[in-house]
Amino acid sequence: MKEILLGIGLAIVIFLAVIGINVIPVILIVVLAAFFYLFMLNQGSIKFEEPGSGSRRGPKIDFTDIGGQDSAVNELKEALEFVVKPEAIYHMGIRPLRGVLLVGPPGTGKTLMAKAAASYTGSAFIAASGSEFIEVYAGVGAKRIRKLFNDARKKAHKEKKRSAIIFIDEMDILGGKRGSHTSHLEYDQTLNQLLVEMDGISSNQEPYVLIIGATNRADMLDPALLRPGRFDRQVQVGLPDKGGRKTILDIHTRNKPVSNIEVLDEIARATFGFSGAHLESLANEAAILALREGSSEIANQHFREAIDKVIMGEKLDRRPTPVEMERISIHESGHALVSEMLEPGTVSSLTIIPRGKALGFMRKAPQDDQYLYTRDELDRQIMVMLAGALAEEIKFGNRSTGARNDFSQAWKLSREIVEAGLSSLGIISGDDIPGEMLYRECHKIIGDLEKITLDMLRKMEHSLHSLAKYLVDEESIDREHFLQFI
Ligand code: ADP
Repeated sequence: MKEILLGIGLAIVIFLAVIGINVIPVILIVVLAAFFYLFMLNQGSIKFEEPGSGSRRGPKIDFTDIGGQDSAVNELKEALEFVVKPEAIYHMGIRPLRGVLLVGPPGTGKTLMAKAAASYTGSAFIAASGSEFIEVYAGVGAKRIRKLFNDARKKAHKEKKRSAIIFIDEMDILGGKRGSHTSHLEYDQTLNQLLVEMDGISSNQEPYVLIIGATNRADMLDPALLRPGRFDRQVQVGLPDKGGRKTILDIHTRNKPVSNIEVLDEIARATFGFSGAHLESLANEAAILALREGSSEIANQHFREAIDKVIMGEKLDRRPTPVEMERISIHESGHALVSEMLEPGTVSSLTIIPRGKALGFMRKAPQDDQYLYTRDELDRQIMVMLAGALAEEIKFGNRSTGARNDFSQAWKLSREIVEAGLSSLGIISGDDIPGEMLYRECHKIIGDLEKITLDMLRKMEHSLHSLAKYLVDEESIDREHFLQFI
């Protein structure tokens, strides 16, 4: 088609020249148009990072190179069964897993995990970042998406691999909610193309393609991306706790002459809030300091100096003071003990490592969806909510602003009790009940439960203090260890 048009165009130009018309402006316009066309073509083809090729080739990454992310790594490995055993999945008629979303702050090892996933499954690996797809020209992003998927398949063929993993960093830039951007046509087209490509993946097709996306803000993503059959697995990749930080330091000092390996424990303790990337940079800085001093080994003081350097260089968030850490620990311990006493089996882990806006949190064991609640069940939930602030009161004799969110949730539950006719007011109409009356009843429900919860915590005071102390020291605790405090 292109050739025919070119031929006709050329014939017209020659004809015009023969009958004596000045064809120079026409030729100029054609040349300009060709330039523009080639430019757009180039925009559509960007080089995606292909680790293992060219100057960026590094050592092969596997899961042993990742520290402090045990549960995230396990969850990811579980999801990768789909890639490892495609025949079994196809045989059972299971819908293929097309996307895994890694959610967590920068520098926690999401890229590492995607690379390790590729070597674990023997897949070709190709990486891109959400921002590479966004251009001012409509349609370019969509074209790049198509190219990305084609490149991944071609790469797998070339390397004779049965599957390919596409890693897309900064997923929120590419996959933000549709219609929320100023130049939204371009964003929407790009996202639509990604959805089309993902929907086209099938389990009996070779090479099988899996997308691993990374973001810090899963809530910013378009809901269409999170629907079953797209990114239907989410893996939380949080900041490492003390033990995790120690493992990461071990990994990054493997190739370095450290004079006293014991110091790494102390460094792990002193680097609360550091991500894996910060720790890698810390190990590197310590080595540079040692080299500058002409020392042949990295000594303790080099590590200590490097901490300050990383904190200042990276403008790290302020770390909580020791008193704040104690308060967060006792608060979370209060929630966990009351939850486990009222409903055994509900606490899965506990941490004082911040995530998002929460300074610490209790991870609940997964439970079945529930649509109906009895009064007792709602009461128990309220008591768990109140227990954080009450534990603070037992230890410090006062409470803090840290319980604000707990209280607002407790209040919502008490309102639910009243409006569902489960309170001492009996059956009422939620729309017609005077505000004052509703307020008084909620206040009474919460007040009564507060007394019961406080009594309960007082009886467990010893466990409360020892659990909180353990949390201050270790920063997190899993279920098995937690049970020892009950
Ligand atoms: P993210 O993709 O989450 O922003 P990366 O995977 O790119 O983070 O991590 C950047 C660097 O930080 C890695 O190359 C590695 O050196 C170091 N790093 C981050 N997390 C870890 C970890 N959990 N274990 C070991 N090293 C880590």
